[in-house]
Amino acid sequence: MRKLELHWQILIGMLLGILFGFLMTQVSWGKDFVGDWIQPFGTIFVKLLKLIAIPLILASLIKGISDLKDISKFRNIGLRTIIIYIATTVVAITIGLVLVNLLKPGEGISEETIRKLTDTYANDSGVTSKMEEASRQKDAGPLQFLEDMVPDNALAAMTDNSLMLQVIFFAIFLGISMLLIGEKDAKPLKKFFDSLNDVVLKMVDLIMLSAPYAVFALLAGVVVSSSDPELLLALLKYAGVVVLGLALMIVFYSIIVSTFTRYNPLTFLSKMSPAQLLAFSTSSSAATLPVTMERVEEHIGVDKEVSSFVLPVGATINMDGTSLYQGVAAVFIAQALAFDLTLANQLTIVLTALLASIGSAAVPGAGMVMLVIVLESIGFPQDKLAIGLALIFAVDRPLDMCRTVVNVTGDATVAMMVAKSVGKLGKPKVKNWDDNYDKV
Ligand code: ASP
Repeated sequence: MRKLELHWQILIGMLLGILFGFLMTQVSWGKDFVGDWIQPFGTIFVKLLKLIAIPLILASLIKGISDLKDISKFRNIGLRTIIIYIATTVVAITIGLVLVNLLKPGEGISEETIRKLTDTYANDSGVTSKMEEASRQKDAGPLQFLEDMVPDNALAAMTDNSLMLQVIFFAIFLGISMLLIGEKDAKPLKKFFDSLNDVVLKMVDLIMLSAPYAVFALLAGVVVSSSDPELLLALLKYAGVVVLGLALMIVFYSIIVSTFTRYNPLTFLSKMSPAQLLAFSTSSSAATLPVTMERVEEHIGVDKEVSSFVLPVGATINMDGTSLYQGVAAVFIAQALAFDLTLANQLTIVLTALLASIGSAAVPGAGMVMLVIVLESIGFPQDKLAIGLALIFAVDRPLDMCRTVVNVTGDATVAMMVAKSVGKLGKPKVKNWDDNYDKV
């Protein structure tokens, strides 16, 4: 019998996980059972993916750069990447703002629901910890992000997943220096990183073998710890606007993939689907990064010279889904709490959501922390911030899952565009869906 393709296996794992999680909410011991016996397998899977993220970035970026024959190519790729990242993020925020202003999800929400949501979440540790984190971020000076990008200890940077940009900086620096000393002298080091890169990609294949079971565990965990269904329903219109905006972003990516790269958008989406399904299950672009890289390089055919730079940078700074969500959430909160927004306020949201999505970490729930900063930028009263966050907290996790899918798809789209524009979009190494996984 023909084996079911990996994306179907993952999808079935997800659906069964949701179903199982739901059944477990019906019995008194269900939540503890899932927490003690099921969720750890999901956590282990996410840890494994994170485990290989840093070695993969390092090996693939150093290999990518040292393969370049000429350093000016790198400048070219870097510049295009940043410009396209900013442009797609501005499109995302604009889509979000247009939808939320047209559909006005915050205006129909009753006083009663607002009170209920506030009572439930305003003092919840989830909300307060996000406020504290935001105030730490806000205290930083305007050039703090530049300062943060430069490590003073390469090994220390590699021991912390939140310091991914520092690892990228170090890898670029090392790669460029290898180019400068010339092929002959850099050869042993280059061979080492080439081989490390191949080995880490094989590790991705091995980890992916457990993906269908892991997503089962992850989703069962999400379902048992989700909020009261009544509160979820009250926020349906708001969540619907965010999801509609995110779906439009996927349409937007499909259009640019087909016009700029002449690649069939359906093939693009189906080749990316294992990464998208993992983004959905883990809510973390950083954890998904190894799979995104594998899909884009081996299954779509983007050259490492491009993908090794564009994708890790994208996972940390390009978050179209997050910025769209921040735009919608900020206006929704303003509408619900009758805070009038001027056109200037909305333009400020575009700018701050752009910066906030760059500053958001690629981990679950990070977008909501930066939302506090977006709200503050439009003069939202300090004493109402916790109420604002409480309003949207109940649906934050499901929306985080959806926006992470868009974040990852956006990175892959830009990688294809940049690759095409510099003549580095070739034939995929892997023809069939699961060739890689079958070989392990
Ligand atoms: N979870 C998102 C990501 O990792 C960030 C966020 O929007 O919270 O891409």
